[in-house]
Amino acid sequence: MAYIQFLGAAGTVTGSKHLVNVSGDTSGKRGFQVLIDCGLFQGQKQWRVRNWQDTPVPAREIDAVILTHAHLDHSGWIPRLMREGFRGPIYATPPTVDLCGVLLPDSGHLQEEDAAFHNKHKTSKHSPALPLYTEDQAKESLGLLKPVEFEETRELSPALSFRFLPSAHILGAAMAEVTAWVNGSTRKLLFTGDIGRLRDTIIAPGRVVRSGPAEDANAEVLVMESTYGNRQHPTVDARPELARLISETVARGGSVVVPAFAVERTQKFLFLLKELMESGEIPRVPVHADSPMAIQAVKIFLKHTDEFSAETRQLIGKYGSPLEWDEFYFDSTVEESKRINESRYPLVIVSSSGMATGGRILHHLMQRLPDPRTLVLFIGFQAPGTRGFTIKSGAETVKIFGEHVPIRAQVAALEQFSDHADTPELLEWLRTFKHPPRATYLVHGEPEASAALRQAMQKELGWKVEAAEWLEKVQF
Ligand SMILES: [Zn+2]
Repeated sequence: MAYIQFLGAAGTVTGSKHLVNVSGDTSGKRGFQVLIDCGLFQGQKQWRVRNWQDTPVPAREIDAVILTHAHLDHSGWIPRLMREGFRGPIYATPPTVDLCGVLLPDSGHLQEEDAAFHNKHKTSKHSPALPLYTEDQAKESLGLLKPVEFEETRELSPALSFRFLPSAHILGAAMAEVTAWVNGSTRKLLFTGDIGRLRDTIIAPGRVVRSGPAEDANAEVLVMESTYGNRQHPTVDARPELARLISETVARGGSVVVPAFAVERTQKFLFLLKELMESGEIPRVPVHADSPMAIQAVKIFLKHTDEFSAETRQLIGKYGSPLEWDEFYFDSTVEESKRINESRYPLVIVSSSGMATGGRILHHLMQRLPDPRTLVLFIGFQAPGTRGFTIKSGAETVKIFGEHVPIRAQVAALEQFSDHADTPELLEWLRTFKHPPRATYLVHGEPEASAALRQAMQKELGWKVEAAEWLEKVQF
């Protein structure tokens, strides 16, 4: 008997966890169990409460984790899994291991801050409120990470091996191709993780990592993301619009506040700003990457040069490390961050978190949202339930640190910077498959997105496709 059980990212875009169980039998013998991704649920409370529930399978009975990439919705539950008794290896590509070294401790730190906030303001029904895991526990869990190169086959048990294929989503991001031995024959399962944009052209500007997911995939069972299953990214170059928005804001004496994830998105955006400044399309104003994590992320990027896109290689060849560019400031200390608040001159602030769910961006938004000269520019997906979603959807106020902050700033969003392929791109990638999979399960999408992609795949490709349901077990 062999099955996949969907323990997360079913009906939502966070909490990715898919259990693969092979070589168990009907007598109740436990099979070899691998968890593909171990992500945190984020966004609305109905999802977040699941972070506090045990896995349906005891953590100590999971033999290994295969991690597709470092984003917290795929990796952020690792320290909790360890807390619950998991001691197995966690396989990831070398850049993913490096990025987790930054992201997981930071996540633990935020969990502790959250708990401290609730205790101070008595806003939790638990007394005392406890963190999901601590920074120290997150650091300890890093010891379980084992680097595996792209394309290298790793045997985890006589019944299961896997390899990583590039997914072009963020630095280090991979699909996990699992080969399982079931009833005397092999089955190939492909877990896409998150799938990046297909091409490095005008329509996906500023890419930092290589472009395009691995083609000619071969799988009997496909477990695929569907974040943008009902959307199409704009096909126009974002740069002229970006240049116009920034130039107008600077001209009226305002500042540009950009909530951006510290890893990948911030780097991508800084490269674009540099390009626009050098070509004279935007004025030279100070740019603050207000995130201690952004510095670490830049260093990790510079280390993994084999993943650079041609564009990035050229830019670094020409201008060197972003850490040394004039007018670009990487603010690591709290004092440096606070000093930005005192500045009354036009400037660009890029800070995280990308959906304004926490982090230093909150202070900048609180300070600058009430000022009509400000531009708040979204360059990433905003999940329902987040502050970013509220601001982007045109609300008049947003609650930050318990206060209702009026939104008088100009709010704009550019959708070209997505790290996810849209529907036409996904279909184009799927057409490169050698054979249609026997079954496809859609995960990592809001229900409408998964439903739309399912329809498109059935109509355009004639494939058998289902949207995965939480806790559903499917045999293969
Ligand atoms: Zn991701």
